[in-house]
Amino acid sequence: MRQHNFNSGPSVLPQQVLQEAAKAIIDFNGIGLSLLEVGHRTPHFVAVIEEAKQLVKELMQLNDEYEVLFLHGGATTQFMQIPMNLLDTNATAAYIDNGIWGNKAVKEASLFGNINVIASSADKKHTYINQNFDIPANAAYLHITSNNTVEGTQWHQFPTTDVPLIADMSSDIFSRQIDFKKFSLIYAGAQKNMGAAGVNLVVVKKSILGKIERKIPAIMDYRNHIEAGSLLNTPPVFAIYVAMLTLRWIKQEGGLEIMELNAIAKATLLYDTIDSLPLFNCRIDKASRSNMNAVFFIDNEDLQNKFLEECKANGMVGVKGYRTVGGIRVSMYNALAMESVIAITDLMKNFAAKHS
Ligand SMILES: *Cc1c(COP(=O)(O)O)cnc(C)c1O
Repeated sequence: MRQHNFNSGPSVLPQQVLQEAAKAIIDFNGIGLSLLEVGHRTPHFVAVIEEAKQLVKELMQLNDEYEVLFLHGGATTQFMQIPMNLLDTNATAAYIDNGIWGNKAVKEASLFGNINVIASSADKKHTYINQNFDIPANAAYLHITSNNTVEGTQWHQFPTTDVPLIADMSSDIFSRQIDFKKFSLIYAGAQKNMGAAGVNLVVVKKSILGKIERKIPAIMDYRNHIEAGSLLNTPPVFAIYVAMLTLRWIKQEGGLEIMELNAIAKATLLYDTIDSLPLFNCRIDKASRSNMNAVFFIDNEDLQNKFLEECKANGMVGVKGYRTVGGIRVSMYNALAMESVIAITDLMKNFAAKHS
């Protein structure tokens, strides 16, 4: 039986994508070769990466001022690659720290230039998104994390600024309609909401590049990847293929408008259930709650462990909170069906009735 997959990442993918990817591993488009056996510069694979790029631009409604790249190394590599390309040694970049991933981005960036953390939610254990902050006009860029996968918060309104805005969208990319033109660089590891682990999507406005003095290693320089069409070296072909299939699936389902409606419907059911049951406790500020990752607690730890065991016994995986936060985390990415949220909220109601 297929499990209800609440994993935070790698995470649930559409069944149709898994089936098509499986077929392509055996015989890609009927060419008598596996997808894993064709050269990345052949027309067979170039068609895949070009379609993936086209779909990204279409879903984000971006024009040719932007370039879509598929790079190695996951989102973590971007923590370093962004300042390496955009932050001169004597310049200052602004960061907002809303959790563990944003914090890691700050640490890496501080190896390259000056970092000004203009706002942090650490004072309240990252249970909210900062609303009030000043963005220095001379900042090289402002970096935010659109959805905090571990803590369960999400930006629902983005800052307006003349400074280039950069967002780590790893865990909510393609889950909602956004004015993507507000951003100068968007990046996301694929394994949360877009595909298989091993590839990282970077969407960059070309005009922000080439403005610093640092010498950048060839493989780290965005301009080289743009020039080579993401084929500077051998790209993670399988992960790019799965991302392309997922992007096709998103479009076929009705695009970001439908992804957003589904995400809101699932999150509303889950948070309403939490709020209606005194046994469960969500500490996140209501206006900052994530529609992708809901983090909540049963304050009695024995009962919480019992609940986690019941989830497992009922075919629900990935529900345990992140090791530094604890509690319960339910991830509701695009491919998670409403029926999985219904299943876990039914279990929560039954559990609360038995143990309250
Ligand atoms: C998972 C995650 C990362 C790290 O991604 P990797 O691909 O493992 O490097 C970074 N940022 C956010 C918001 C994430 O959820």
